Formats: sequence, C-alpha cells, structure tokens
Amino acid sequence: MAHRVTLIPGDGIGPELAEATRRVLDASGADFDWDVQEAGADVMADHGGNPLPEHVLDSILENGVALKGPITTPVGTGFRSVNVTLRKTLDLYGQVRPCKSYKGVRSRYDDVDLIIVREATEDLYAGIEFEEGSEDARELVEWLGAHGGGVRADSGISVKPISISGTRRIFEFAFDYARRNGRRKVTAVHKANIMKFSDGLWLHVAREVAGENEDVEFEDRIVDNLCMQLVQRPEEYDVLVLPNLYGDIVSDLAAGLVGGLGLAPGANFGTRAAVFEPTHGSAPKYTGQNKANPMAMMLSGVLMLRHLDETEAADRVEAAIAEIIAEGKSVTYDMKPTRDDPTAVGTSEVADAIIDKLGARVA
Ligand code: NAD
Repeated sequence: MAHRVTLIPGDGIGPELAEATRRVLDASGADFDWDVQEAGADVMADHGGNPLPEHVLDSILENGVALKGPITTPVGTGFRSVNVTLRKTLDLYGQVRPCKSYKGVRSRYDDVDLIIVREATEDLYAGIEFEEGSEDARELVEWLGAHGGGVRADSGISVKPISISGTRRIFEFAFDYARRNGRRKVTAVHKANIMKFSDGLWLHVAREVAGENEDVEFEDRIVDNLCMQLVQRPEEYDVLVLPNLYGDIVSDLAAGLVGGLGLAPGANFGTRAAVFEPTHGSAPKYTGQNKANPMAMMLSGVLMLRHLDETEAADRVEAAIAEIIAEGKSVTYDMKPTRDDPTAVGTSEVADAIIDKLGARVA
C-alpha cells in the first residue's frame, strides 16, 4: 500500500529541493501518495495572516508523517516562525541529526558516523526569560536574594527547566532509536558536575533508563570534554543524547565534521507525528536558480523511509547518493573543489543522476 505523506515544499530553495527529493523517493521502490500542503509567508495572505494554516497541521496529524522543505522566517515583522510553531504544536520533542562521512566529501575526517539526539522542548530554549530592568526581573532577583541566590540587580535572567518526564521520554526514545537502527552505544551528555539539579537530574534519569535497556551499551560524558574528544576521535561515539542547548551546538559541530550543511539531514519526532527536514534554511539568495544541493533533503527522505520500515528502499537511495558523491561529477557547486567550478550541476540534475543509479537497482 502507498504511504500517505504530507509534503510541505516550503519557500526559498525549498520547492526545488522538494521536487528533486520527491522524484528520487518515487524512484526508490517505495510507493507514496503525496499530500502536498503549502505553508509560510507566501501563503499567509490567503489564510487570514496565518503562515501555518490549520489544515496543514490536520494533514500532518492525519498522516503521522511529513517531509518538509525549509521555510523563511522574515526578520522584524512579528511573523511567528513556522518551524517553532510546528515543533510546539505537534510536541516534536526528539530531534535526530545523523552526521556521517561519505567518501568523496572534502572534510578533515573520513570515519564519522554519529547520531545526535536532541531534546527539543525544555532547557534554556523553553522561552522563560526575564528582561533586565523589568519589574518581573527585579522581583525575581529579590526573591532569589531571599533564598540564598545572590544575583546582581542589573541582570537579565533565562531559566533552565529540565524535567524527569521530559528526560525519561527522550532517553526511552534514544534507546529505542538505537535498537531499531542497529546502533551499539548511547552516550548521555551533560554538565552535571556544575548544574546538579538540572543536568544532574538529566544524568540520573539517563542512568535509570539505561538500566532498563541493558542490551545497548551506555556511558556519559561532560559536554566540554565531549567536544574535545569529538574533534580528536569522533569514531569513538555513536548515539549522543543531549539537552536542547548543547544539542543545538554539538549538532552543528558534528555537521562540520562531515562536510557541512548541504549534507545534514534531520528528523523531528513527537508522540503524534514525525517531520523530516534538512538542517539548513531556505537560502533565499538561491531561490529559483536550480543551484542548491538537494542531498540534505534527500537524506532526510532516507530517514523517513527507515521510519516507514522501507529499509531496502532507504539503503538503495543512500547507496545511490553515496555513489554520486564519490564520483564527484553530478554534484552541486558546494561539493566541488572551488565554489565557481564550471562543472557543477544544478539541483534537478543531481536528482536525475541519482534516479539513473536507482534505475539499475529497482527491479
Ligand atoms: P541557510 O541555511 O538558509 O543558508 C546559509 C547559507 O548556507 C546559504 O547562503 C548557502 O550559502 C548555504 N546553503 C544552505 N543550504 C544550502 C543548500 N541546500 N545547498 C547549497 N548551499 C546551501 O541559513 P540562513 O541564511 O540563516 O537562513 C535563511 C532563512 O531560512 C531564514 O529565514 C531562516 O529563518 C530560515 N531557516 C529555516 C529553517 C527551517 O525551515 N527548518 C532552518 C534554518 C533556517
């Protein structure tokens, strides 16, 4: 039976990448029934100023799976980020960012194969902030002073909540993900030596969940030490599980280890839906130029195929992409030795080359 999937092309380079990705997935051997939904600044005028119309959310909830292109967040217009609204409304708590070396990519390492699992609803990103000079900040500073916390009167304050329930569900998710994807080890990342009641709780709960999942190896690392070890010996790590802020920073570090944004796929998992999308944004300056690299979105499609248990199709697409990278011919400007290399091909030609490779494999 065909998989019904919500496809949100997005804006900027999004629609070109989405079209290239859809063509590749349709040639993968898996069957799709695409439910195309528009969201973002370009369609908000038609929906009472809402960039994420209700029917788009309904479609994702009904299908349970969405593939999404990047969406622009205009600066300084009071426009609510579609990406943040999606994450909040669908409670997409588990962000997964694989970082893997492909032969032929210009980078300092050739043996990286990491999965970054980032908790995406809590921590310093919870949005609980008190502006310096405000009445609330003044009251909070006073309260803290009365409870043993000396905070300077001219401070701005951001709060870092980490809960038992939020931590438990991300580690249960991570162990489950590790098992389903044949990974060997889960590493809990923290700064529990300093933040005993937030990161300390995180580590304590991580150990508890690890005790319930003894078939997967478990260890923990302090985040600063982890960063140093990642740039020295990335091959020692497998699945890293991090609270929101460290997760954001370390996933960019890991993307840098394997050659940058053009190759960094992503997935966001919640209890009711999963949304697959590249890590990069809408690169507005390349809109409509058939220039951007579609591989991060295609690799997000590979993650989606795995989520849908289409393992063979996922392996085929990933192998075809890997071959195209290794050959180094049908790749976009960002994967060439110099950015003005005249042999660089466009977005849709990358898709053509991958479909060509798939043609040889799909019976
Ligand atoms: P960006 O990722 O869009 O672009 C940064 C630079 O990276 C580009 O100028 C380009 O040189 C390069 N780049 C990015 N993707 C590429 C690709 N596929 N192929 C080749 N080169 C690529 O980041 P930005 O400029 O900070 O953001 C642009 C817009 O995208 C903003 O409005 C931002 O809010 C939005 N954004 C959306 C998402 C999302 O939808 N999930 C994520 C990040 C940023």
